[in-house]
Amino acid sequence: MKALEACLLALVTGLLACAPAPEADPPDVLLITVDTLRADYVHAYGFAEENTPTMDALAARGVLFENAIAAATLTAPAHASIMTSRYVREHSIGSRNGDTRLEGLPTLAQRFAEAGYATGAFVSNVVLRRRIGLDRGFHVYDDELPSSERNRDFHFERQAGATAGRALEWLMTRPGSQPVFLWLHLQDPHGPYTPPGEWSGTIAPVPLAMKGELGVLPGNSGRAGIPAYQALGEARDPALYAARYAEEIRYADHWAGRVIEALEARSAKRGAVILLTADHGESLGEGGWFFQHGQSTAPELARVPFIVVAPGLAPGRVRGPVSHVDVAPTLLALARLPELPGASGYALSGQGGDEQFPRDRLIFCDTDGESAAYGAESWTRIAGAAASDRPEGSAIPTRSETVRRNAAGKWRPADPDTRAMGALGDYLARRASLVAAGPMAPEHVEELRALGYLPPHEADASEDANQASPAASPISDSAP
Ligand SMILES: [Zn+2]
Repeated sequence: MKALEACLLALVTGLLACAPAPEADPPDVLLITVDTLRADYVHAYGFAEENTPTMDALAARGVLFENAIAAATLTAPAHASIMTSRYVREHSIGSRNGDTRLEGLPTLAQRFAEAGYATGAFVSNVVLRRRIGLDRGFHVYDDELPSSERNRDFHFERQAGATAGRALEWLMTRPGSQPVFLWLHLQDPHGPYTPPGEWSGTIAPVPLAMKGELGVLPGNSGRAGIPAYQALGEARDPALYAARYAEEIRYADHWAGRVIEALEARSAKRGAVILLTADHGESLGEGGWFFQHGQSTAPELARVPFIVVAPGLAPGRVRGPVSHVDVAPTLLALARLPELPGASGYALSGQGGDEQFPRDRLIFCDTDGESAAYGAESWTRIAGAAASDRPEGSAIPTRSETVRRNAAGKWRPADPDTRAMGALGDYLARRASLVAAGPMAPEHVEELRALGYLPPHEADASEDANQASPAASPISDSAP
């Protein structure tokens, strides 16, 4: 009945939600998530440099959602929300970043696999390795990470060229008779900001609010200094760091473009649905935080790009707000597949003022120890024990505040938003049980041993563990 109503509505309003005809071949589907990409460093979202030609071209022929809010400001929780259409407190990864595992909920990839798609994932961040359960539904889950971060040799990653190369190889070998669902995750804008040689030095220093030099911190907090893992030799000028960050984005954008080209070449007949977003943003001096994420739910961490291209989708810009939990419903609707049961998001038709979601909806965003409700121009958060997955009774003071964006686009303290506080109260009552991450793959254990590190979480494999181990490890430390 719901589908029929949508079709009738589409006929009345002239939308294309029901086109093309049902007998058309199912479209190929490409989901690109760029790690640590704040929306305002994408040219189509207002960044001064033309560092994102691929994303800008997508925005020109697709729908750009201006206010897209991450479900979390950490990698693993945000991606779990993308894949399940559930907010962070509704899935078993919770707000943990690498030591919990997704279980029990149907995933986007499963839906595509069940519908006869070839499903492939190509990821580049150590916390997305298959032990956290995001591989469910993927025929191929390529989490081989051949390189290490500049300052943390136990932090494995893969550069865009290598990840995209694997994705291209997979695409080329898929039979044209079978539709594909491809998830490409590019890690590059994540610190340290070390673009490959030919990309480095192509963008002039980007002036930040904070002038002068920063010190390098002994740890990775990013509070009023350069996190140790981000240090670039003797460089201390934050404007230089922002430029290297923008160059990493340019490099990732280039490889996203190569994969889009290849996909569209094979999709000429069946059509291609493309959705590009990021898992979270990055602090570049806001509130005194530098080159880090996950420390709060602030706008520079929560606001991400969100661009959709699909056959029949008229180009445009939509104010929003929209969320990571809308990704799966949107892709499934555009591929004419049934929605995920219990989804928390909406299928975004992208048709300007005729969007099928409430304009005044509130979007939830989490990190460990903090939950927030976002409207298009407001951010209300509760920080402290009540918002965290820490054991009850932890002596962390709870505080709340509301911030609004003014006409000049600046976020300013405002009167408490009682509607958002009420919604957050209800949201905090949701608390899915966390599931401990599975054991590391033997080859990954060997990688760590070869580097002289003890493999973490070997004791976590016990099946009855339903609370993540809080034990510190190279994987859950700081904000990969
Ligand atoms: Zn991330």
